[in-house]
Amino acid sequence: MDYAKNMLETIGNTPLVKLNKLTADLPCLVLAKYETFNPGNSVKDRMALKMIEDAEADGRLKPGGTIIEGTSGNTGMGLALAAIVKGYKCIFVMADKQSKEKVDIMRAVGAEVIVCPTAVEPDDPRSYYSVSKRLGEETPNSWYVNQYDNPSNARAHYESTGPEIWKQTEGKITHFVVGVGTGGTISGVGKYLKEQNPNIKIWGVDTYGSVFKKYHETGIFDEKEIYPYVTEGIGEDILPKNVDFDIIDGFTKVTDKDACVYTQRLAKEEAMFLGNSAGSAIKGVLQLKEHFTKDDVVVVLFHDHGSRYVGKMFNDDWMRKMGYID
Ligand code: PMP
Repeated sequence: MDYAKNMLETIGNTPLVKLNKLTADLPCLVLAKYETFNPGNSVKDRMALKMIEDAEADGRLKPGGTIIEGTSGNTGMGLALAAIVKGYKCIFVMADKQSKEKVDIMRAVGAEVIVCPTAVEPDDPRSYYSVSKRLGEETPNSWYVNQYDNPSNARAHYESTGPEIWKQTEGKITHFVVGVGTGGTISGVGKYLKEQNPNIKIWGVDTYGSVFKKYHETGIFDEKEIYPYVTEGIGEDILPKNVDFDIIDGFTKVTDKDACVYTQRLAKEEAMFLGNSAGSAIKGVLQLKEHFTKDDVVVVLFHDHGSRYVGKMFNDDWMRKMGYID
């Protein structure tokens, strides 16, 4: 019989799917690495499991322990699924700009969720970085995951996502384009692909309100680049250790409005029901048009599922309230 021993064995080996309509004006083939086929409906299942396995292996996470993390939802989902199978408790700290669906989903899979204000400095004691760090110090038999600086995050993508893309494209990939949050996806996949073929170009998609693009271009951490934004999952007001700026060839920034409009278009024109950062990623690909030629094979990674955003860009009242549609 052909079956998985538990849900964790279904992580990875996601499909690669051609985009047809949205990319019609590009000269090249554009393929989506479609990560919502993971059991938690996002790419983050891969790194969540890897971070847990590495922490178990070196004793940071002990039997019956509590997993603590600041998460925008997808990492939490991956951690929660692994915790159920492996017998751990979870406490997640989220920023209040994240969609309500994400909080409800975390609770549905048994996690305790603490919601913190978005509009405070990262070192403010109320910020979700500070609260998750403090809980990690105060809770007995707990492990603070810290996906931003945890090297197992990028390693998961180096060991699974990168090799899958290389194999699925038969080594023909020329460009990889992906949204950047913790940096785990771009750094792990980018490192693996460049080791196979150093000519492959790695492009990060950033948001307005985030520091990455300017830092990559100038080496300056410019606080003027930081302001609140709507896009979820990508962009940061810190420099996570998981962002390997050396393997990234460039960043392109996508507006909140474009991210939402293109997330809707992916659903309506490509039958791809995806989250907010997929809209940013495909708009990023379109913005990079001048970098592509006829024989190029561009892979864009789509991180998470549209069901987490039904109250936002898939709701026209919300789109109108935000001024994104008339
Ligand atoms: N999109 C979504 C929806 C995410 O949850 C994340 C993770 N923060 C990203 C993109 C960025 O991925 P990474 O953290 O690996 O850079």
